[in-house]
Order: sequence, then C-alpha cells, then structure tokens
Amino acid sequence: MSIAENLRSVRQRMDAAARAAGRDPGSVLLVGASKMNGADACREAVAAGIDALGENRVQEMTAKLAEHAYDGAPLHFIGHLQRNKVRQVVGRADLIQSAGSLELLEEIQRQAEKLDVVQDVLLEVNIGGEESKSGFSPRALYPAAEAARTFSRVRVRGLMTIPPICREPHGNLPYFEKVAQLYVDIGRNLYDNGFIYLSMGMSDDFEDAIAAGATMVRVGSAIFGHRQYQL
Ligand SMILES: *Cc1c(COP(=O)(O)O)cnc(C)c1O
Repeated sequence: MSIAENLRSVRQRMDAAARAAGRDPGSVLLVGASKMNGADACREAVAAGIDALGENRVQEMTAKLAEHAYDGAPLHFIGHLQRNKVRQVVGRADLIQSAGSLELLEEIQRQAEKLDVVQDVLLEVNIGGEESKSGFSPRALYPAAEAARTFSRVRVRGLMTIPPICREPHGNLPYFEKVAQLYVDIGRNLYDNGFIYLSMGMSDDFEDAIAAGATMVRVGSAIFGHRQYQL
C-alpha cells in the first residue's frame, strides 16, 4: 500500500468515527507522525493532502527541514522537548504540541521574544500520571493553563495527550474522555476561541479519541508503515 492509499483509508476511518459520534468529519485534523521516515515519505504525504506533519526529534526535524520535507504543510513538534533544544524549534514548528512544564513555556517565551514571533503551543497532559512521561499532571494543568496566559509570546491553542500503552481494545477511551473534559473546562474558563486543538489518538486508537472529542489525531504507522527501529 502506498502512503496516499494509507492516508485515504485512515481518513475514511476518521470520517466514519466522527459521523458515528455525531460530529462533522471536517472537524478533525490528521497529523502524520513522520519520525524515522525520510524526506521523500514526508513529501508524499504532503502531496496526498495530509493536514500537517509532526516530528519527534529536533535533530531529525532540522535535517529534514533542510531537505524541504515539509514544504506545503504545517510542521508540528510532537516529541519530548528538552529545554536546551527549544531554540531550534521555536519559529520553525508551526505548533509545539509537547509543552509540558512551566520551565519549557518560559524558555519558549524567551526564544520567541528573541525572534519577535508568537509561538503556538499545546499543553501536554500526562493523563496516566506516568513517571516516564512528560506533561502536566491533571491537577497541575489548570493552574498551568492560567499561568500560561501571562506569556505574551506563547499562544496556547489546546491540549495534547499520550495515554499509557494499552493492549485491550478501547482501553484508552476513559483517558481520552478525561482529557476532553479538561479541554472543555479550560477552553470555557480561561481561553477565547483560539483554543481549538485537542490532540489525541494514534494508529491504534484514533477512532476512540475522535469519539471522545479529539480535533487532531497523530497517526504514524497506519500511514507510513511500521518503523524500522535501528539498534
Ligand atoms: C509516533 C507517535 C505517534 C504515532 O504513533 P503510531 O502508533 O505510529 O500511529 C503519535 N504521537 C506521538 C507523540 C508519537 O511519537
């Protein structure tokens, strides 16, 4: 199957999930998680009409930017972001989905000021409370979202989450529903109508994420095929 064919079938499944939930199929954006796929694969996805591409690693993103891998589509940063690499992402990524601490928001503000830009971000929620994952705990999220309003160069556009790895079907649905509730509360109480992105759901569970209210899904292997991890 080609990338274009995979993309078409993912989009059909997204549309069906949206309709089943009584939602407009056009209300969910498809972000291709293109890690470990080369510039050619990215360009193929862009040509096939993907809404955006998301990268996980700063070094890989920088190399692929130099190859014009993302020309024609917005670029998102979706991976764990270290403070000392923020400088290489601000102003380059249209959306940083993985802003998961106040320290990171401060650094994004600092770098955006230097470049005289406003950086769009999503606040990452560690909904499973996992030690190994970054992101705000559900309890820390609301105060963080409140504090984030004071950063003049950071525009919070919504929330992103990566739930715990789960083997049972629909196992992540309760997590998606919790994050959707946080998204509605924060959007209603703290932000204006620019707060529109709820990024959740991957290849194995994007339909459940859409059922719970996702407006953006991040899909890798279902579009690009299985990644070849190098040892
Ligand atoms: C890789 C990745 C995805 C996509 O994962 P698949 O299971 O391949 O669809 C989504 N979000 C993030 C943050 C990722 O790193």
